[in-house]
Amino acid sequence: MADLKELEGFVFHSLGGFLAQGVLLMAVLWQLLQNYTELTLYLMAYLPLWGLLLAWVGGWVTRYSQRTQAALERLSGRMAEGFGRLELIRALRLEGFARARFRQSNQRQYRLGRTRTLIAALNLPLGQLATTSLLGLLLYLGVGAVQRGELTTGDLSAFLTLLALTITPLQTLSRLGTGFAQAEGAAARLVELLTLPQASAEGSLAPGRIVGRLELCDLDFAYPGGSAVLRGVNLCLPPGSFTALVGPSGAGKSTLLRVILGLYPPSKGQVLLDGHDLQAYEPGWLRARIAWVPQEPLLFAGTVRENLAAMAPGATPEAMEQALRAVGLWPEVGLQTRLEDDGGGLSVGQRQRLAIAAALLRDARILLLDEITSALDKSSEAQVVAALEAVRPGRTILVVAHRLSTVQHADQIVVMEQGRVVEVGRHEELLARGGVYAQLWKGYT
Ligand code: ADP
Repeated sequence: MADLKELEGFVFHSLGGFLAQGVLLMAVLWQLLQNYTELTLYLMAYLPLWGLLLAWVGGWVTRYSQRTQAALERLSGRMAEGFGRLELIRALRLEGFARARFRQSNQRQYRLGRTRTLIAALNLPLGQLATTSLLGLLLYLGVGAVQRGELTTGDLSAFLTLLALTITPLQTLSRLGTGFAQAEGAAARLVELLTLPQASAEGSLAPGRIVGRLELCDLDFAYPGGSAVLRGVNLCLPPGSFTALVGPSGAGKSTLLRVILGLYPPSKGQVLLDGHDLQAYEPGWLRARIAWVPQEPLLFAGTVRENLAAMAPGATPEAMEQALRAVGLWPEVGLQTRLEDDGGGLSVGQRQRLAIAAALLRDARILLLDEITSALDKSSEAQVVAALEAVRPGRTILVVAHRLSTVQHADQIVVMEQGRVVEVGRHEELLARGGVYAQLWKGYT
């Protein structure tokens, strides 16, 4: 927003003056050249020097503008962080820390802004020095020409009058040059944002039927600018299967879900759905068939019915009721039950089950659940797991699990460590193998 404002200020307040003064300068120079060729050539020889000076100062202003704007962005981020988590900050008595972070960003922004203003202000005295010294030089040359009889006094004073007319445009232009340099900095940042590559190409495949076979082939992934998070992941999730993803924190489990969702393209390898690369599918089609149930599902203030209708447009009240039944929410939660912001009024387990119900209504065939049970007590956990079991036929389910109790009955357990799949198998097989999973299990029980 700040970059846009900067650009807007330049376009509305300065660009008109820029054009008018430019035209005036051209007209006067043309007159001078016609009538006083020799003296004007001196003037013209000086102009490139003036341009160089302007470009040099302008370059500094552009650079400092960009840095100032970036510091402003950071400052707004810190403010959002502070105000957004105010309760936590007060509860943990982190006011001093938050204030210090704010002050640090604020001072950086102030210092950069001050330097930028100083450099921009240099422009005026430098420009004045240049124009007055030029005037002195031309006066000296002109008087010499009069003394030698090459020019009359009248000619010289007419020349100087015309010359005086160039001073205002030159000074205005140099001032505008600084404005231009600032606007250029803002524009460069905006262009950078607008030309960010699209995350993935949009395909057009939208078959009428979906089998639900997911295959990950030799998948590598790194976050933009980061190091490798997934390395050579190979995995097959057959339709109708229940797969659990386990492993220490930071192993890359959530990242794997994001890549399967198509939120990030893999750096190498492919995610295949029914044999076609995810990117070949039409994004809307894909979103309707893959449901993501995060730990904190997206719910809005309003009734349960409004929430379900937002996520599954066109679902009938009967179908909604059936979906609520399938996940065990009915009748404690009905269509008219009111939620507050972010699903307030429902327990965490109920929210997750509501999100699963929405996925059912959309007839999503692939369910991805992140950390499904880590925030739940035992009985809510059992309800969520029962809901998953109930909806399992015909669906491909992938669950990231912290509690190993949830995963014992999975068709396959995938153990990840440092971005690699290190073990795949059923609970008993993995226990018998005595590897990483067996260790995790020992720590768990
Ligand atoms: P897990 O779900 O197994 O705990 P994650 O997939 O969340 O692991 O994280 C795997 C690695 O990726 C971690 O080292 C983490 O620091 C890094 N990471 C996670 N999210 C991001 C992100 N948005 N940008 C950069 N790195 C990230």
